[in-house]
Amino acid sequence: MEVTLVLRSTRVVTPEGTRPASVAVAGERIAAVLPYDAKIPGGARLEDVGDHVVLPGLVDTHVHVNDPGRTEWEGFWTATRAAAAGGITTIVDMPLNSLPPTTTVGNLRVKQDTARPKAHVDVGFWGGALPDNVGDLRPLHDAGVYGFKCFLSPSGVDEFPQLDQDQLAASLAEIAGFDGLMIVHAEDPHHLDAAPQVSSPHYADFLASRPRDAENTAIAHLVDQARRLGARVHVLHLSSSDALPLIAAARREGVRVTVETCPHFLTLTAEEVPDGATEFKCCPPIREAANQDALWDGLADGTIDAIVSDHSPSTADLKTPDFSTAWGGISSLQLGLPAIWTEARRRGHSLDDVARWMSTAPAALAGLDAKGAIEAGRDADFAVLAPDETFTVDPAALHHRNQVTAYAGKTLHGVVKSTWLRGARIADHGAPAEPTGRLLERNK
Ligand SMILES: [Zn+2]
Repeated sequence: MEVTLVLRSTRVVTPEGTRPASVAVAGERIAAVLPYDAKIPGGARLEDVGDHVVLPGLVDTHVHVNDPGRTEWEGFWTATRAAAAGGITTIVDMPLNSLPPTTTVGNLRVKQDTARPKAHVDVGFWGGALPDNVGDLRPLHDAGVYGFKCFLSPSGVDEFPQLDQDQLAASLAEIAGFDGLMIVHAEDPHHLDAAPQVSSPHYADFLASRPRDAENTAIAHLVDQARRLGARVHVLHLSSSDALPLIAAARREGVRVTVETCPHFLTLTAEEVPDGATEFKCCPPIREAANQDALWDGLADGTIDAIVSDHSPSTADLKTPDFSTAWGGISSLQLGLPAIWTEARRRGHSLDDVARWMSTAPAALAGLDAKGAIEAGRDADFAVLAPDETFTVDPAALHHRNQVTAYAGKTLHGVVKSTWLRGARIADHGAPAEPTGRLLERNK
């Protein structure tokens, strides 16, 4: 196919490192990564972005879009516009908080029909594993979900109950039968029950109610089950750095376990949360600064694979000042890249690292083979970033449905200049274009 576009920059982030390059695009795919001064093929349009960095489009595999059913919290129109503005070209939607949840093939079709006309970026779906839907898992897998989410403690919504250890084993055995993936909210319910639960506006009280041991124990049980059943499992939103040694040990012995963490755990600390500021509430919780340092060490040594948003917004009225009753979820979809880059650069990490954590690794987790890197054959998805420019977060300027965010007022490094999806610009200086996103299905 003929080259239609050449994207040129002095800093293109490729799997082999960052270098001056001209990325030749044929239609929707990357045809070749050429030398910077390569001759532009006749008929191709040149887009020279100067010294701005060209990253692979980010892949966010942990987004709660809540549409249909709780669209006042977030919807496909608003979420995918925010994603495009933030340099994200693919999201994978979580199976809960929408109504219906994505727990049957029929429900998946409802969600796909809802998303199709609103998608500004490419959208895939996770299925859900409930106590009573083991028989739905293979049909959902065949229908194209990328894996299954389960909870081991209450999820926060009644229609998505958690699995006990026997139910987890039954679901894992079923999923292992077709080499599927189980992604797990790992907090142990018994440890949560044993922790002090008090109605309070103080963050320390909330933190004490979601102890590290709840995560550590749940992850240990999960690793045991994965080892026993040969199942492939993924730990969602790791907060407790105490679990890193056991995860690293499990991986060394060949247990198939991967791990993600989130921008809020890597950039915000328990020490800074003001009284009543429940925009900082999520489960598991943001922990102390020392814990954050250890999570960064886990990224640096490869124990943690990916950084994804866990964007889980609600309307402002559900963020009551009492931490025990406020909705748990942090809204950050549009801000993940600058939030992470601001902290990564301070800690001496490169944009190559950021691309690996926020694009390559999440794409690999879900098996999105066309996404996740700037190399020939992959989709022409790019985020063009001015890494040294700064901005101050103004919630009113975000495309999220609700302007509640723990990042309000923060000054961040990294301004997304444009975002490109399959060879076409889908956001320009924060302004999203018309929706051209596609619905993605596993192995399609
Ligand atoms: Zn989540």
